[in-house]
Amino acid sequence: MNPHFHYRDGRLFLEQVALDEIAGRFGTPCYVYSRTALTEAYQAFEQALSGTPHLVCYAVKANPNLAILNVFAKLGAGFDIVSGGELQRVLAAGGDAGKVVFSGVGKTADEMRRALDAGILCFNVESAPELLRLNEVAGSLGKIAPVSLRVNPDVDAKTHPYISTGLKQNKFGVAYEDALALYRQARDLPHLHIRGIDCHIGSQLTEVSPFAAAVGKVLQLVDALAAEGIALEHIDLGGGLGICYDDETPPAIADYVAALLSALNGRAEKLILEPGRVLVGNAGTLLTRVEYLKHGEEKNFVIVDAAMNDLMRPALYDAYHNIVPATQNDLPKMTCEIVGPVCETGDFLGHARELSIEPNALLAVLSAGAYGMSMASNYNTRPRAAEVMVDVDRVHLIREREKISDLFSGEHLLS
Ligand SMILES: *Cc1c(COP(=O)(O)O)cnc(C)c1O
Repeated sequence: MNPHFHYRDGRLFLEQVALDEIAGRFGTPCYVYSRTALTEAYQAFEQALSGTPHLVCYAVKANPNLAILNVFAKLGAGFDIVSGGELQRVLAAGGDAGKVVFSGVGKTADEMRRALDAGILCFNVESAPELLRLNEVAGSLGKIAPVSLRVNPDVDAKTHPYISTGLKQNKFGVAYEDALALYRQARDLPHLHIRGIDCHIGSQLTEVSPFAAAVGKVLQLVDALAAEGIALEHIDLGGGLGICYDDETPPAIADYVAALLSALNGRAEKLILEPGRVLVGNAGTLLTRVEYLKHGEEKNFVIVDAAMNDLMRPALYDAYHNIVPATQNDLPKMTCEIVGPVCETGDFLGHARELSIEPNALLAVLSAGAYGMSMASNYNTRPRAAEVMVDVDRVHLIREREKISDLFSGEHLLS
């Protein structure tokens, strides 16, 4: 549990605010984030990188709420985006387009145009046809597109197969063996300017060794490029540092950065990192209220008002989230299944948890700040949750709960 979550007289607080008060005021399900925790995680990167030319680009997809982007923008962050929509969010939140890197395997011509117009720092190009399209789009606008190639270093990130991205069989990046030839092609295209190199090997990594292995392979390429007269301004090592959900022991941000710097061994190129989960994951919780206790023949079901549409990670990856009471009680504990109201057997938030549940209890699903709200859907015509940010003793509603009428406002009856 992030240290900004703590119990006081049996009530769970985030910073100086009791979570049951937030639930009372804004309803449930409700995401709550700590501004202080966000800031501390970001500052840990800045501190560890203070002696090195660098840019920390927050991976917007982890949690794209404008208030969260704004907190990072004010701290000087750049942003890693994967769509034109994320670019628009960054700009709306006061982010600096000149600090934006654009990743993703399927950039459309329209997204490229918008990013060129905004003046982003770099396109992380993931294939040969994308390189050709970018050259064409830039030419049609009379602009020069800044590019990196995202290379696939073929290292095993030892994480869940759905969030491993740096293996040969993954759809991401340019094959390591093809990278040199593609850089030569990029050099010869008139509307491109080669700015750097990029890799991102996966998410929720809990060891530094795969990162160090990736750095080694990237540096071999950087040297080979230099030998051909292709000098790079930056090396982008992506994101992927894991957090503790259960009993994982990921390296601290400072140790992770130290391992990267040691593998980089004093290179002069600017270092770009794209952390997502580690900046927001443990800064947030999902509050949910118990609707029913249902004692089945084999299991006790605790049916709560949050579901897989609010937090998809358990259903999608069988991910573990610690679930704790927002108000403690003295009732005996029982083993229970924490499930939502959605009509899917896969709709669960936790299996076989030991909890003492009173009627109407308020629960906090921890480590829900990353890939929680950003993956939420309207399945079962469920409005998406409200989002709240705590800043010491202040409480800000940063996203209103959706209304049911919002959900079908763009739909039409046959005329
Ligand atoms: C998702 C993603 C990230 C962030 O990953 P985390 O595991 O959340 O740190 C960074 N870069 C790229 C290209 C990504 O797709």
